[in-house]
Amino acid sequence: MIFKRKLPIPKEIKEMYPISPEGAAAKRSNDEVLRAVLSGESKKLLVVIGPCSADREDAVIEYISRLRPLQDRVADKIVIVPRIYTNKPRTTGAGYKGMLHQPNPQAQSDMLRGLISIRKLHMRAINETGFSCADEMLYPEHHRFVDDVLSYVAVGARSVEDQQHRMTASGLDIPVGMKNPTGGDLSVMMNALKAAQSGHMFIYRNWEVESKGNPFAHAILRGYVDSHGIAHPNYHYEDLARLSALYQTSGLVNPAVLVDTNHSNSGKRYEEQVRIAKEVLHSTRHSEEIHSLVKGLMIESYLVDGCQKPEEGVYGKSITDPCLGWEKTERLILDLADLWV
Ligand code: PEP
Ligand code: MN
Repeated sequence: MIFKRKLPIPKEIKEMYPISPEGAAAKRSNDEVLRAVLSGESKKLLVVIGPCSADREDAVIEYISRLRPLQDRVADKIVIVPRIYTNKPRTTGAGYKGMLHQPNPQAQSDMLRGLISIRKLHMRAINETGFSCADEMLYPEHHRFVDDVLSYVAVGARSVEDQQHRMTASGLDIPVGMKNPTGGDLSVMMNALKAAQSGHMFIYRNWEVESKGNPFAHAILRGYVDSHGIAHPNYHYEDLARLSALYQTSGLVNPAVLVDTNHSNSGKRYEEQVRIAKEVLHSTRHSEEIHSLVKGLMIESYLVDGCQKPEEGVYGKSITDPCLGWEKTERLILDLADLWV
């Protein structure tokens, strides 16, 4: 390994790019809204929505700026948290690893520019739209570069069995969605939730730290891939009933699930997200138990339908997983607001 250069620590980057008092106030109020949804105190539907990867600042800000008036239209039913995913887990390690690695997807990795770019992007989102957004906590040690601008993090399917992710999640004061692993074993996800809701003493950024446990750690069902490489959904009524039963014997607080409508649930047929989202809402109408467990959806959406190779360069089109385009997204959110009771 070659140690190329020492990077600034989170405190230094935050001093260079501090959050405004208005931004900090917006985050505090968004955090409260999310806690109310996840505790069941608020009955609104949480929709974590946005591109698979935040590949360029201009298109992501345009996308989130379109979400703002839409959120205001459906505010009585839906709480939107935009996805700004700045670091991407890759199945084989190959390919675009997100803005943190490559602030310009066409150019070489530049981690210093990457760190600054992701902080600036999250700050623009909060300053220009009032949204404090969601990101994946792919690298637990990096979370503190953006912890003051995020309202939600997910622990991805490839990270959920990892102890450092679980212990870090246990020390955060925002909701952490923990996905089922790619192979679909729900006990791995339930164990992750147990770990994240418990307190731990551990090493973090070379400090001895103590966490109190995160009562808002919750499940995300994202479908799974079997040993033959075939994708299977886990968003159906029976899957939700099974998860509810697991929660009942788990001793966990604030039982909650978000259904990820893309990934192995759609088999990455992104248009299916519309049907899947509506089916989940339909399931909630059949059972009070499932209604109280399902707190929301995670949807992959961007300005333009589908996906492309990074070199194609279409503005607002995903360079990782295929996404619903804007028109379908807007229609879907309005429909969900009508359907959610
Ligand atoms: C994602 O949300 O884009 C993602 C990578 O999800 P998963 O961890 O479920 O594959
Ligand atoms: Mn994705």
